[in-house]
Formats: sequence, structure tokens, C-alpha cells
Amino acid sequence: MVVIDGKQVAAQMRQEIAGEVAAMVSQGKRPPHLVAILVGTDGASQTYVGHKEKCCNEVGFRSTVLRLPEETTEAQLLERIAALNADTDVDGFIVQLPLPRHISEQKVIEAIDPRKDVDGFHPVNTGRMISGLPSYLPATPDGILSLLKYYGIETAGKTCVVIGRSNIVGRPMANLLSQKGWDCTVTICHSRTADLPQVVASADIVIAALGQPEFVTGDMIKPGAVVIDVGITRVPSTRTKSGYKLLGDVKYDEVAPKCSYITPVPGGVGPMTIISLMKNTLKAAQKQIYGN
Ligand code: NDP
Repeated sequence: MVVIDGKQVAAQMRQEIAGEVAAMVSQGKRPPHLVAILVGTDGASQTYVGHKEKCCNEVGFRSTVLRLPEETTEAQLLERIAALNADTDVDGFIVQLPLPRHISEQKVIEAIDPRKDVDGFHPVNTGRMISGLPSYLPATPDGILSLLKYYGIETAGKTCVVIGRSNIVGRPMANLLSQKGWDCTVTICHSRTADLPQVVASADIVIAALGQPEFVTGDMIKPGAVVIDVGITRVPSTRTKSGYKLLGDVKYDEVAPKCSYITPVPGGVGPMTIISLMKNTLKAAQKQIYGN
């Protein structure tokens, strides 16, 4: 069994991106600029934005975080988005989800200029992705594809079960793996799936993205399967300084001995999500700066 080291793969990709940024700067161009909008004080969101900011610094991007109060209205947020759409010094921006309940996530996503939508959530990018056209791919599925590629994991002709059908993880993941080049036979499971353990047990590749800690147990896994754990849930812990620990959607101790490859939590998919966001931002900057 191989433990997939997302941290190491991300570190290598970070170096490659840093090299491209250095080349741009040496040609007298400005570095790529990513803006993150953070509304409210949700602890996990603050941590994620902090990680993104740190990664921007590491690869040489300019990074700006707009911290807006919880009471920000939808109209105010949409105004900020319009300003970022028009700002030629900004290559890409993200609005950290979840948003406070009084703001429509869908309206916000659709307000972002698809050319600056480095999260790849805008319906234009989703539509292009589904059609197999160049687009900004959603960061988590793209990061998972990078891991599969890096480890040379065969996908063609394999059966893949994706647990979860969200617009940002499950659905794009299932779509991408079914596309030419990846060639998986994909099944999507969700909360209404009948006999889910049996469906999962048929899979060569299992991608767990449901947000239910340790949901996938050893008895659901076909021997030799590849298991990708996307879930991150904060649970209280007396053993850590922060007072919480992170759990994945997979019961690691039971599943790891049965499978051929597995991603740990943390250190598996998480670092790859951030690096894919950097990749998208670099692409957006190159388009804006060089016009290609
Ligand atoms: P959502 O809550 O948007 O979607 C969860 C999906 O899982 C839904 O489709 C839901 O089904 C399904 N689901 C929930 N419970 C069950 C169940 N008991 N059985 C079967 N299906 C179930 O979550 P996200 O896709 O946004 O995120 C999923 C997890 O991944 C979370 O833990 C999140 O924190 C993590 N995540 C990690 C990232 C990373 O970088 N590692 C990035 C993004 C997310 P239904 O549609 O029927 O309700």
C-alpha cells in the first residue's frame, strides 16, 4: 500500500510555478495577482484563506485578502466583485465559501467574470469543462487528477465511485474521470443512494467527498482499490493546541491495509487543492499579461 504524499507533490508543483513566475518577472512583467474575499469570521474559512495567502507568497504571486464583515450585504459584495472584474491589476479572485446565509452563493459565483474565475465554479467554466474545452478546472478535482497522474495510477477502463455530488467536488470529479484520457466508468453516490456500501465495494477507485468523518469503512473497500479521501471535518480534540483535529471521510486505519493507494488527511488532497488554484491563477495572469 502506498500513502499518497500530497504535500510532496504540491511542493514540487509549487517550485515549477515559482519558476514560471520568476521567468515572467525577469521579462519585466508583474507577478500574478490573486485576490481572496472572505466574508465573516468562520474559523475554517480563515484557515483556508491563510493557507492560500501563504502559498501565493511561496510561489511569488501578489496576494490580497479582502476581509469583509459578516453583515456585508449581497449588494455590497456584488459591488466588490464588479470592481475586481474591472481591475486589470487582478488576474483572478475567489470568494471563500460558505457565505453567510443572507447572501446567495449562486448569485455571487455567477457575478464573477469567468476569465477571472480561478476557482472554476462559474457555469461558463463548468459548461466548458463538461464539453472538454479549455477552462479553469475546479481546484479539488484538478488536484486529485494531478495526484493520479503523478503516481501513474491507471484509470482507463477502471470503475470509479465518487461519493458526493456537490458542484465543487463530486460532480466535476465524476465528469472529469469519465472524459477521454481518463476513461473511467464512473458512478456517483449521494445521500439517496441505495445499498451504498455495496456500490462502493465494486469500485477500483473510490473518491470520498461527502463530509461525514470516517464514513468509508474497511468492509466497503475492494482489496487493491485506490482510495482518495477528500473530506475534511474539524472535530473537537483535547490533544491538540488548537482544540480540534481534522478527520477525513475514510476510516484510515481500517481502509489503508486493504487498498493499493490511499490519501491521508491531512496531507493528501488538501495541499493539491491550493496548488491547483495557483495553477489557474498563473494561467489567468499569463492570459491577461501576454494575451495568450
Ligand atoms: P457538500 O456538503 O456540498 O456535499 C456533500 C455531498 O455528499 C452531497 O452530495 C451529499 O448528498 C453527499 N452525502 C452527504 N452525506 C451522505 C451520506 N451519508 N451518504 C452518501 N452521500 C452523502 O460537500 P463538499 O462537496 O463541498 O465537500 C465534501 C467534503 O470535502 C467536506 O468534508 C469538505 O470539507 C471537503 N473538502 C475538502 C477539500 C480539500 O481541499 N481537501 C476541498 C473541498 C471540500 P446529497 O446531494 O444527496 O445531499
